[in-house]
Amino acid sequence: MQIGIVGLGLIGGSLGLDLLQCGHTLHGVSQKLPTCEAALARGAVHTASTDLRSLADRPVEVIFICTPIPLVLPTLEALAQWLPPSVLITDVASIKGSIVTAAISLWPNFVGGHPMAGTESQGIQAAVRHLFQDRPYVLTPQSDTSPASIEQLRGLIQDLQARVILADPFTHDQAVAWISHLPVMISASLIAACSRESQSEVLQLAQKLASSGFRDTSRVGGGNPDLGTAMAQYNRQALLQALNTYRQELEEVIHYIENQSWSDLHQLLQITHRERQTFGE
Ligand code: NAP
Repeated sequence: MQIGIVGLGLIGGSLGLDLLQCGHTLHGVSQKLPTCEAALARGAVHTASTDLRSLADRPVEVIFICTPIPLVLPTLEALAQWLPPSVLITDVASIKGSIVTAAISLWPNFVGGHPMAGTESQGIQAAVRHLFQDRPYVLTPQSDTSPASIEQLRGLIQDLQARVILADPFTHDQAVAWISHLPVMISASLIAACSRESQSEVLQLAQKLASSGFRDTSRVGGGNPDLGTAMAQYNRQALLQALNTYRQELEEVIHYIENQSWSDLHQLLQITHRERQTFGE
């Protein structure tokens, strides 16, 4: 299949690395020339250009928009001027509701997507093979989406060895507010709170001692600042609801500890010990 990728960063580059190995022909577009050169050198694409219009000169059948979130719709709007309507366009943005609603009106053959995979790094150098393997990959088709387009995309996602999950775009946004966007904000707050330790001797020792527990809980808060900000901006309502519920939980924990209510705290930890098994694999 002839595939276009716009935005050759962590996600776009990783898609290219895997899809190219599966025998597809990859045409990349990115903002910066050195990024295009690096994508070619790394074997993520067969051709690369800084000119979005170059995709109109290629026989592309599917395009993945892998730009930062605020650029997904402007990119689609530009592509819509030049491409034949048969081209299936998808995106990988971490929020779906507002993007899908606007995208469908710009390009009826659009299917929203969100691979549930990533790292705390960004850019083409962060792209890796098998990033999506065994990971959920959400697609958010609408009632009038062509079944052929869904199947075309499903086939490519299976090439990535990812697991397709179909979801309503707004339900997706509420769900990822809990398991992706809230953790980013909690994790960032954790790093910020630790950094406020005023005794330099204590702070330095904490930094030296930080091991697997801190690494796990701080990982997503130490990631791409642009992406974290865009998650909050574009999924504001669902994220605020999740943050407010989290604040209530935190206040309850503080209350238990202040009042030395150890049995209440123990009961809560027993519940969370059990409930954790119900999230993810
Ligand atoms: P990233 O590593 O920063 O990649 C985005 C790339 O887009 C950049 O490398 C940049 O390349 C390129 N770009 C910027 N402006 C552009 C433009 N006007 N035209 C073409 N390319 C442009 O970010 P990412 O993590 O891959 O995120 C990309 C998308 O994936 C976002 O929508 C995000 O929500 C989604 N996503 C991210 C994760 C994650 O964990 N990171 C997970 C799932 C989905 P240049 O060097 O050329 O500027």
